[in-house]
Amino acid sequence: MMKTEMERNTIESASAMDAADVLAGFRDEFYFPVINGRPVLYFCGNSLGLQPRNARKYVEKELDDWAKWGVEGHFNAATPWFSYHEFLREPMAKIAGAHPDEVVVMNSLTTNLHLMMISFYRPDKKRYRIICEGGAFPSDQYALASQVKLHGLDPKDAIIELFPEQGKTYIETTQVTDAIHKHRDELALVMIGGVNYYSGQLFDMKTITAATHEAGAMAGFDLAHAAGNVSLELHDWNVDFAVWCSYKYLNAGPGGVAAAFVHRRHTGNPELVRLAGWWGNDPEKRFSMPKEFVPANSADAWQLSNAPVLPMAVLRASLDLFSKAGMERLTNKSRTLTAYMESVILSAIRRNNCSGEVRIITPADEKQRGCQLSVQFNRHGKEVYDFLTESNVFGDWRSPDVIRFAPVPLYNSYTDVYRCGELLNEALAVFKKD
Ligand SMILES: *Cc1c(COP(=O)(O)O)cnc(C)c1O
Repeated sequence: MMKTEMERNTIESASAMDAADVLAGFRDEFYFPVINGRPVLYFCGNSLGLQPRNARKYVEKELDDWAKWGVEGHFNAATPWFSYHEFLREPMAKIAGAHPDEVVVMNSLTTNLHLMMISFYRPDKKRYRIICEGGAFPSDQYALASQVKLHGLDPKDAIIELFPEQGKTYIETTQVTDAIHKHRDELALVMIGGVNYYSGQLFDMKTITAATHEAGAMAGFDLAHAAGNVSLELHDWNVDFAVWCSYKYLNAGPGGVAAAFVHRRHTGNPELVRLAGWWGNDPEKRFSMPKEFVPANSADAWQLSNAPVLPMAVLRASLDLFSKAGMERLTNKSRTLTAYMESVILSAIRRNNCSGEVRIITPADEKQRGCQLSVQFNRHGKEVYDFLTESNVFGDWRSPDVIRFAPVPLYNSYTDVYRCGELLNEALAVFKKD
Protein backbone atom coordinates (compact mmCIF):
# COMPACT_ATOMS: atom_id res chain seq x y z
CA MET A 1 0.00 0.00 0.00
CA MET A 2 2.02 2.90 -1.30
CA LYS A 3 -0.69 5.48 -1.73
CA THR A 4 -1.80 7.89 0.94
CA GLU A 5 -5.03 7.25 2.73
CA MET A 6 -6.82 10.12 0.94
CA GLU A 7 -5.93 8.77 -2.46
CA ARG A 8 -6.98 5.22 -1.86
CA ASN A 9 -10.11 5.82 0.14
CA THR A 10 -12.33 6.27 -2.90
CA ILE A 11 -14.57 3.87 -4.75
CA GLU A 12 -12.36 4.32 -7.83
CA SER A 13 -9.23 3.18 -6.06
CA ALA A 14 -11.08 0.22 -4.49
CA SER A 15 -12.30 -0.81 -7.97
CA ALA A 16 -8.77 -0.46 -9.32
CA MET A 17 -7.45 -2.77 -6.57
CA ASP A 18 -10.18 -5.29 -7.45
CA ALA A 19 -9.22 -5.10 -11.12
CA ALA A 20 -5.60 -5.89 -10.21
CA ASP A 21 -6.56 -8.75 -7.83
CA VAL A 22 -5.53 -12.14 -9.29
CA LEU A 23 -7.95 -13.91 -6.93
CA ALA A 24 -10.95 -11.67 -7.74
CA GLY A 25 -12.63 -14.43 -9.81
CA PHE A 26 -13.06 -16.71 -6.78
CA ARG A 27 -15.81 -14.43 -5.50
CA ASP A 28 -18.10 -15.85 -8.19
CA GLU A 29 -17.60 -19.34 -6.78
CA PHE A 30 -19.68 -18.46 -3.69
CA TYR A 31 -23.28 -17.62 -2.83
CA PHE A 32 -23.68 -14.30 -1.03
CA PRO A 33 -26.92 -14.00 0.98
CA VAL A 34 -29.35 -11.55 -0.64
CA ILE A 35 -31.35 -9.47 1.82
CA ASN A 36 -33.91 -6.85 0.82
CA GLY A 37 -33.01 -7.54 -2.77
CA ARG A 38 -29.29 -6.77 -2.28
CA PRO A 39 -26.31 -9.07 -1.69
CA VAL A 40 -24.89 -8.44 1.78
CA LEU A 41 -21.39 -7.18 2.48
CA TYR A 42 -20.25 -10.37 4.18
CA PHE A 43 -17.48 -10.14 6.80
CA CYS A 44 -18.47 -13.20 8.83
CA GLY A 45 -16.30 -15.83 7.19
CA ASN A 46 -14.58 -16.25 10.57
CA SER A 47 -17.87 -17.50 11.96
CA LEU A 48 -19.49 -19.33 9.04
CA GLY A 49 -17.87 -19.29 5.61
CA LEU A 50 -20.07 -18.78 2.55
CA GLN A 51 -21.39 -21.70 0.54
CA PRO A 52 -19.22 -22.67 -2.42
CA ARG A 53 -21.39 -22.91 -5.53
CA ASN A 54 -19.91 -26.31 -6.35
CA ALA A 55 -20.91 -27.80 -2.95
CA ARG A 56 -24.29 -29.03 -4.21
CA LYS A 57 -22.68 -30.83 -7.14
CA TYR A 58 -20.24 -32.67 -4.85
CA VAL A 59 -23.00 -33.72 -2.44
CA GLU A 60 -25.31 -34.78 -5.28
CA LYS A 61 -22.55 -36.97 -6.66
CA GLU A 62 -22.45 -38.95 -3.41
CA LEU A 63 -26.25 -39.13 -3.21
CA ASP A 64 -26.29 -40.43 -6.81
CA ASP A 65 -23.61 -43.02 -6.05
CA TRP A 66 -25.52 -44.12 -2.98
CA ALA A 67 -28.71 -44.51 -5.06
CA LYS A 68 -26.77 -46.36 -7.73
CA TRP A 69 -24.60 -48.62 -5.61
CA GLY A 70 -26.06 -48.97 -2.14
CA VAL A 71 -23.49 -50.59 0.12
CA GLU A 72 -21.13 -51.24 -2.80
CA GLY A 73 -20.52 -47.48 -2.93
CA HIS A 74 -17.90 -48.06 -0.22
CA PHE A 75 -15.68 -49.39 -3.00
CA ASN A 76 -17.46 -48.62 -6.29
CA ALA A 77 -18.41 -44.96 -5.85
CA ALA A 78 -16.38 -42.58 -8.01
CA THR A 79 -14.77 -41.41 -4.75
CA PRO A 80 -14.99 -44.63 -2.68
CA TRP A 81 -16.41 -44.04 0.79
CA PHE A 82 -14.11 -46.57 2.43
CA SER A 83 -11.22 -44.19 1.97
CA TYR A 84 -13.18 -40.94 1.51
CA HIS A 85 -11.33 -39.08 4.26
CA GLU A 86 -8.07 -39.80 2.45
CA PHE A 87 -9.11 -37.55 -0.44
CA LEU A 88 -9.14 -34.65 2.00
CA ARG A 89 -5.75 -35.37 3.46
CA GLU A 90 -3.46 -33.66 0.96
CA PRO A 91 -5.37 -30.41 0.51
CA MET A 92 -5.86 -30.15 4.28
CA ALA A 93 -2.18 -30.90 4.90
CA LYS A 94 -1.27 -27.96 2.62
CA ILE A 95 -3.43 -25.66 4.68
CA ALA A 96 -1.83 -26.94 7.91
CA GLY A 97 1.77 -26.97 6.68
CA ALA A 98 1.96 -30.68 7.46
CA HIS A 99 2.81 -33.99 5.86
CA PRO A 100 -0.34 -35.72 4.62
CA ASP A 101 0.03 -38.56 7.14
CA GLU A 102 0.00 -36.00 9.99
CA VAL A 103 -3.52 -34.79 9.20
CA VAL A 104 -6.92 -36.43 9.55
CA VAL A 105 -10.37 -35.01 8.84
CA MET A 106 -12.88 -36.31 11.39
CA ASN A 107 -15.54 -35.45 13.97
CA SER A 108 -16.06 -31.95 15.27
CA LEU A 109 -13.53 -29.57 16.75
CA THR A 110 -14.27 -29.95 20.45
CA THR A 111 -14.44 -33.74 20.08
CA ASN A 112 -11.01 -33.70 18.44
CA LEU A 113 -9.63 -31.52 21.22
CA HIS A 114 -10.76 -34.14 23.74
CA LEU A 115 -9.28 -37.00 21.70
CA MET A 116 -5.95 -35.19 21.45
CA MET A 117 -5.88 -34.34 25.15
CA ILE A 118 -6.51 -37.98 26.05
CA SER A 119 -3.21 -38.73 24.29
CA PHE A 120 -1.17 -35.61 25.01
CA TYR A 121 -2.33 -34.42 28.40
CA ARG A 122 -0.97 -37.16 30.66
CA PRO A 123 -0.54 -35.37 33.99
CA ASP A 124 1.37 -36.87 36.90
CA LYS A 125 1.91 -35.62 40.44
CA LYS A 126 4.63 -33.24 39.36
CA ARG A 127 3.66 -32.17 35.84
CA TYR A 128 -0.03 -31.44 35.58
CA ARG A 129 -0.54 -27.76 34.75
CA ILE A 130 -1.89 -26.32 31.51
CA ILE A 131 -1.16 -22.83 30.20
CA CYS A 132 -3.87 -21.32 28.01
CA GLU A 133 -4.98 -17.86 26.96
CA GLY A 134 -7.44 -16.17 29.33
CA GLY A 135 -10.90 -15.75 27.88
CA ALA A 136 -10.38 -18.66 25.48
CA PHE A 137 -13.36 -19.75 23.43
CA PRO A 138 -15.80 -21.21 26.00
CA SER A 139 -15.87 -24.68 24.44
CA ASP A 140 -12.09 -24.88 24.87
CA GLN A 141 -12.36 -23.74 28.49
CA TYR A 142 -14.94 -26.45 29.21
CA ALA A 143 -12.86 -29.07 27.41
CA LEU A 144 -9.70 -28.19 29.36
CA ALA A 145 -11.49 -28.09 32.72
CA SER A 146 -13.26 -31.40 32.13
CA GLN A 147 -10.02 -33.10 31.04
CA VAL A 148 -8.34 -31.87 34.21
CA LYS A 149 -11.22 -33.28 36.27
CA LEU A 150 -11.02 -36.57 34.37
CA HIS A 151 -7.59 -36.96 35.97
CA GLY A 152 -8.98 -36.15 39.42
CA LEU A 153 -7.38 -32.69 39.48
CA ASP A 154 -8.75 -29.25 40.25
CA PRO A 155 -9.07 -26.91 37.22
CA LYS A 156 -8.50 -23.85 39.46
CA ASP A 157 -5.09 -25.18 40.37
CA ALA A 158 -4.16 -26.91 37.12
CA ILE A 159 -5.18 -24.29 34.54
CA ILE A 160 -3.11 -21.13 34.24
CA GLU A 161 -4.83 -18.44 32.19
CA LEU A 162 -2.83 -15.61 30.64
CA PHE A 163 -4.46 -12.20 30.17
CA PRO A 164 -3.06 -9.16 28.35
CA GLU A 165 -0.91 -7.03 30.62
CA GLN A 166 -2.20 -3.67 31.86
CA GLY A 167 -2.83 -1.27 28.96
CA LYS A 168 -2.47 -3.99 26.29
CA THR A 169 -5.23 -5.48 24.16
CA TYR A 170 -3.39 -8.72 23.42
CA ILE A 171 -0.88 -11.10 24.95
CA GLU A 172 2.79 -10.59 24.09
CA THR A 173 4.73 -13.70 23.06
CA THR A 174 7.28 -12.99 25.78
CA GLN A 175 4.47 -13.08 28.33
CA VAL A 176 3.66 -16.63 27.17
CA THR A 177 7.27 -17.78 27.12
CA ASP A 178 7.90 -16.19 30.55
CA ALA A 179 4.93 -18.08 31.99
CA ILE A 180 6.19 -21.32 30.44
CA HIS A 181 9.57 -20.74 31.99
CA LYS A 182 8.14 -19.84 35.37
CA HIS A 183 6.02 -23.02 35.54
CA ARG A 184 8.49 -25.24 33.74
CA ASP A 185 8.65 -27.92 36.41
CA GLU A 186 4.88 -28.40 36.75
CA LEU A 187 3.91 -27.82 33.14
CA ALA A 188 2.23 -30.65 31.21
CA LEU A 189 0.63 -28.80 28.30
CA VAL A 190 0.42 -25.44 26.57
CA MET A 191 -2.86 -25.21 24.69
CA ILE A 192 -3.64 -21.93 22.95
CA GLY A 193 -5.94 -20.72 20.16
CA GLY A 194 -3.59 -20.03 17.21
CA VAL A 195 -5.67 -16.97 16.37
CA ASN A 196 -7.73 -15.66 19.28
CA TYR A 197 -11.40 -15.59 18.31
CA TYR A 198 -12.08 -12.32 20.14
CA SER A 199 -9.06 -10.10 19.53
CA GLY A 200 -7.91 -11.66 16.25
CA GLN A 201 -4.35 -11.97 17.62
CA LEU A 202 -2.19 -14.52 15.81
CA PHE A 203 0.17 -16.18 18.29
CA ASP A 204 3.77 -17.01 17.45
CA MET A 205 3.25 -20.75 17.50
CA LYS A 206 6.82 -21.57 16.55
CA THR A 207 8.34 -19.67 19.48
CA ILE A 208 5.71 -20.90 21.93
CA THR A 209 6.23 -24.52 20.84
CA ALA A 210 10.00 -24.24 21.19
CA ALA A 211 9.70 -22.77 24.70
CA THR A 212 7.17 -25.45 25.66
CA HIS A 213 9.45 -28.27 24.52
CA GLU A 214 12.38 -26.68 26.27
CA ALA A 215 10.31 -26.91 29.46
CA GLY A 216 9.58 -30.58 28.76
CA ALA A 217 5.86 -30.15 28.02
CA MET A 218 3.51 -30.66 25.05
CA ALA A 219 2.29 -27.89 22.75
CA GLY A 220 -1.19 -28.04 21.21
CA PHE A 221 -3.18 -25.40 19.33
CA ASP A 222 -6.80 -24.79 18.52
CA LEU A 223 -6.72 -23.47 14.96
CA ALA A 224 -10.45 -22.77 14.50
CA HIS A 225 -9.64 -19.17 13.55
CA ALA A 226 -6.30 -19.90 11.93
CA ALA A 227 -6.97 -22.70 9.42
CA GLY A 228 -7.50 -21.24 5.96
CA ASN A 229 -6.77 -17.78 7.36
CA VAL A 230 -3.03 -17.63 8.07
CA SER A 231 -0.05 -19.56 6.82
CA LEU A 232 0.71 -22.54 9.05
CA GLU A 233 3.85 -24.70 9.29
CA LEU A 234 2.76 -27.15 11.95
CA HIS A 235 5.31 -29.80 11.04
CA ASP A 236 8.31 -27.48 10.92
CA TRP A 237 7.22 -25.65 14.03
CA ASN A 238 7.27 -29.04 15.80
CA VAL A 239 3.76 -28.60 17.16
CA ASP A 240 2.65 -31.77 18.96
CA PHE A 241 -1.01 -31.62 18.01
CA ALA A 242 -3.61 -29.23 16.64
CA VAL A 243 -7.34 -29.25 15.97
CA TRP A 244 -9.58 -27.07 13.83
CA CYS A 245 -13.08 -26.86 12.39
CA SER A 246 -13.93 -26.47 8.73
CA TYR A 247 -17.04 -24.27 8.74
CA LYS A 248 -15.26 -20.96 9.43
CA TYR A 249 -12.59 -19.95 6.88
CA LEU A 250 -12.81 -23.39 5.26
CA ASN A 251 -16.43 -22.94 4.11
CA ALA A 252 -17.60 -26.51 4.73
CA GLY A 253 -21.03 -25.52 6.03
CA PRO A 254 -22.66 -25.52 9.48
CA GLY A 255 -21.25 -28.27 11.68
CA GLY A 256 -18.84 -29.33 8.90
CA VAL A 257 -16.29 -32.06 9.63
CA ALA A 258 -13.27 -30.94 11.64
CA ALA A 259 -9.59 -31.93 11.47
CA ALA A 260 -6.63 -32.82 13.62
CA PHE A 261 -2.86 -32.72 13.23
CA VAL A 262 -0.48 -35.07 15.06
CA HIS A 263 3.24 -34.62 14.52
CA ARG A 264 5.07 -37.53 12.86
CA ARG A 265 7.19 -38.16 15.90
CA HIS A 266 3.98 -39.24 17.69
CA THR A 267 2.00 -40.98 14.94
CA GLY A 268 4.27 -44.01 14.84
CA ASN A 269 4.24 -44.50 18.61
CA PRO A 270 1.99 -47.48 19.45
CA GLU A 271 2.49 -46.86 23.18
CA LEU A 272 0.46 -43.66 23.14
CA VAL A 273 -2.75 -43.81 25.13
CA ARG A 274 -5.75 -43.09 22.94
CA LEU A 275 -9.45 -43.74 22.65
CA ALA A 276 -9.74 -46.17 19.77
CA GLY A 277 -12.31 -47.18 17.18
CA TRP A 278 -12.27 -49.36 14.08
CA TRP A 279 -11.49 -46.55 11.65
CA GLY A 280 -8.25 -45.89 13.48
CA ASN A 281 -7.09 -49.40 12.82
CA ASP A 282 -4.57 -50.15 10.14
CA PRO A 283 -6.81 -50.00 7.00
CA GLU A 284 -5.41 -53.31 5.71
CA LYS A 285 -6.87 -54.98 8.79
CA ARG A 286 -10.07 -52.92 9.10
CA PHE A 287 -12.51 -55.41 7.60
CA SER A 288 -10.83 -58.50 8.95
CA MET A 289 -11.88 -57.06 12.31
CA PRO A 290 -8.97 -58.30 14.39
CA LYS A 291 -9.57 -58.55 18.12
CA GLU A 292 -6.65 -56.31 18.88
CA PHE A 293 -6.44 -52.68 17.75
CA VAL A 294 -3.42 -52.05 15.53
CA PRO A 295 -3.18 -48.28 15.10
CA ALA A 296 -2.67 -46.87 11.61
CA ASN A 297 0.79 -45.38 11.25
CA SER A 298 -0.63 -41.87 10.75
CA ALA A 299 -3.01 -39.35 12.29
CA ASP A 300 -5.76 -41.72 11.11
CA ALA A 301 -5.07 -43.76 14.24
CA TRP A 302 -7.25 -41.26 16.15
CA GLN A 303 -10.29 -41.86 13.92
CA LEU A 304 -13.11 -43.65 15.66
CA SER A 305 -15.85 -44.13 13.11
CA ASN A 306 -16.37 -44.44 9.38
CA ALA A 307 -16.31 -41.12 7.58
CA PRO A 308 -19.42 -38.89 7.24
CA VAL A 309 -19.29 -38.72 3.46
CA LEU A 310 -22.02 -36.12 2.82
CA PRO A 311 -20.56 -33.29 4.91
CA MET A 312 -17.10 -34.28 3.71
CA ALA A 313 -18.28 -33.79 0.13
CA VAL A 314 -18.93 -30.11 0.92
CA LEU A 315 -15.47 -29.81 2.42
CA ARG A 316 -13.96 -31.33 -0.74
CA ALA A 317 -15.79 -28.73 -2.82
CA SER A 318 -14.28 -25.95 -0.74
CA LEU A 319 -10.78 -27.43 -0.49
CA ASP A 320 -10.69 -27.69 -4.28
CA LEU A 321 -11.04 -23.89 -4.35
CA PHE A 322 -8.28 -23.53 -1.76
CA SER A 323 -6.00 -25.74 -3.83
CA LYS A 324 -6.65 -23.62 -6.91
CA ALA A 325 -6.14 -20.33 -5.09
CA GLY A 326 -3.16 -21.53 -2.99
CA MET A 327 -2.50 -20.44 0.59
CA GLU A 328 0.40 -18.23 -0.45
CA ARG A 329 -1.66 -16.14 -2.84
CA LEU A 330 -4.49 -16.05 -0.30
CA THR A 331 -2.31 -14.83 2.55
CA ASN A 332 -0.69 -12.24 0.25
CA LYS A 333 -4.08 -10.82 -0.66
CA SER A 334 -5.20 -11.13 2.96
CA ARG A 335 -2.42 -8.83 4.17
CA THR A 336 -3.35 -6.12 1.66
CA LEU A 337 -7.11 -6.49 2.07
CA THR A 338 -6.88 -6.40 5.87
CA ALA A 339 -4.54 -3.41 5.80
CA TYR A 340 -7.12 -1.71 3.59
CA MET A 341 -9.89 -2.63 6.04
CA GLU A 342 -7.77 -1.22 8.84
CA SER A 343 -7.28 2.03 6.93
CA VAL A 344 -11.00 2.51 6.19
CA ILE A 345 -11.93 1.79 9.82
CA LEU A 346 -9.27 4.22 11.12
CA SER A 347 -10.43 6.79 8.59
CA ALA A 348 -14.06 6.49 9.78
CA ILE A 349 -12.88 6.90 13.39
CA ARG A 350 -10.79 9.94 12.48
CA ARG A 351 -13.49 11.58 10.42
CA ASN A 352 -15.79 11.36 13.45
CA ASN A 353 -13.18 12.38 16.02
CA CYS A 354 -13.94 9.33 18.13
CA SER A 355 -10.52 7.76 18.59
CA GLY A 356 -11.00 7.99 22.37
CA GLU A 357 -14.11 5.84 22.16
CA VAL A 358 -13.53 3.40 19.32
CA ARG A 359 -10.37 1.40 18.65
CA ILE A 360 -9.05 -1.65 16.82
CA ILE A 361 -7.84 -4.15 19.43
CA THR A 362 -6.28 -6.54 16.91
CA PRO A 363 -2.48 -6.15 16.68
CA ALA A 364 -1.42 -3.60 14.04
CA ASP A 365 1.60 -5.80 13.24
CA GLU A 366 0.56 -7.98 10.29
CA LYS A 367 2.69 -10.86 11.61
CA GLN A 368 0.42 -10.98 14.63
CA ARG A 369 -2.94 -11.16 12.90
CA GLY A 370 -4.85 -12.87 10.12
CA CYS A 371 -7.70 -11.18 8.29
CA GLN A 372 -9.95 -10.48 11.29
CA LEU A 373 -10.10 -7.01 12.83
CA SER A 374 -11.90 -6.51 16.13
CA VAL A 375 -13.26 -3.04 16.82
CA GLN A 376 -13.97 -2.17 20.43
CA PHE A 377 -16.41 0.53 21.58
CA ASN A 378 -16.66 2.41 24.89
CA ARG A 379 -20.33 3.00 24.14
CA HIS A 380 -22.94 2.57 21.41
CA GLY A 381 -21.14 -0.47 20.00
CA LYS A 382 -24.31 -2.52 19.77
CA GLU A 383 -26.17 0.39 18.13
CA VAL A 384 -23.41 0.75 15.54
CA TYR A 385 -23.54 -2.99 14.93
CA ASP A 386 -27.34 -2.90 14.48
CA PHE A 387 -27.04 0.08 12.11
CA LEU A 388 -24.54 -1.89 10.01
CA THR A 389 -26.73 -5.00 9.98
CA GLU A 390 -29.69 -2.87 8.85
CA SER A 391 -27.43 -1.56 6.08
CA ASN A 392 -26.68 -5.11 4.86
CA VAL A 393 -23.20 -5.29 6.43
CA PHE A 394 -22.62 -8.63 8.18
CA GLY A 395 -19.92 -8.36 10.84
CA ASP A 396 -20.54 -9.98 14.17
CA TRP A 397 -21.13 -8.73 17.65
CA ARG A 398 -19.19 -10.16 20.57
CA SER A 399 -20.37 -9.12 23.99
CA PRO A 400 -19.64 -6.91 25.73
CA ASP A 401 -18.16 -4.38 23.32
CA VAL A 402 -16.62 -5.74 20.09
CA ILE A 403 -17.62 -5.91 16.43
CA ARG A 404 -15.51 -8.38 14.45
CA PHE A 405 -14.94 -7.93 10.71
CA ALA A 406 -13.23 -10.60 8.65
CA PRO A 407 -12.46 -9.57 5.07
CA VAL A 408 -11.84 -13.01 3.57
CA PRO A 409 -9.40 -13.02 0.64
CA LEU A 410 -11.15 -15.91 -1.13
CA TYR A 411 -14.40 -14.00 -1.68
CA ASN A 412 -14.26 -10.47 -0.33
CA SER A 413 -13.36 -7.54 -2.56
CA TYR A 414 -11.73 -4.18 -1.93
CA THR A 415 -15.04 -2.62 -2.96
CA ASP A 416 -16.81 -4.57 -0.16
CA VAL A 417 -14.31 -3.11 2.29
CA TYR A 418 -14.67 0.42 0.92
CA ARG A 419 -18.47 0.25 1.24
CA CYS A 420 -18.21 -1.13 4.76
CA GLY A 421 -15.96 1.79 5.71
CA GLU A 422 -18.45 4.33 4.36
CA LEU A 423 -21.33 2.72 6.26
CA LEU A 424 -19.26 2.57 9.45
CA ASN A 425 -18.55 6.27 8.97
CA GLU A 426 -22.29 6.97 8.73
CA ALA A 427 -23.02 4.84 11.79
CA LEU A 428 -20.39 6.62 13.89
CA ALA A 429 -21.78 9.99 12.79
CA VAL A 430 -25.28 9.01 13.96
CA PHE A 431 -24.24 7.69 17.37
CA LYS A 432 -21.51 10.07 18.41
CA LYS A 433 -24.12 12.86 18.71
CA ASP A 434 -25.62 11.60 21.98
C1 LIG B 1 -15.54 -22.00 16.63
C2 LIG B 1 -14.75 -22.49 17.75
C3 LIG B 1 -15.13 -23.63 18.46
C4 LIG B 1 -16.40 -24.37 18.15
O1 LIG B 1 -16.33 -25.72 18.52
P1 LIG B 1 -17.18 -26.85 17.78
O2 LIG B 1 -16.76 -28.09 18.44
O3 LIG B 1 -16.87 -26.77 16.31
O4 LIG B 1 -18.64 -26.54 18.00
C5 LIG B 1 -14.30 -24.06 19.50
N1 LIG B 1 -13.16 -23.39 19.80
C6 LIG B 1 -12.78 -22.28 19.12
C7 LIG B 1 -11.51 -21.58 19.49
C8 LIG B 1 -13.57 -21.79 18.09
O5 LIG B 1 -13.22 -20.68 17.46
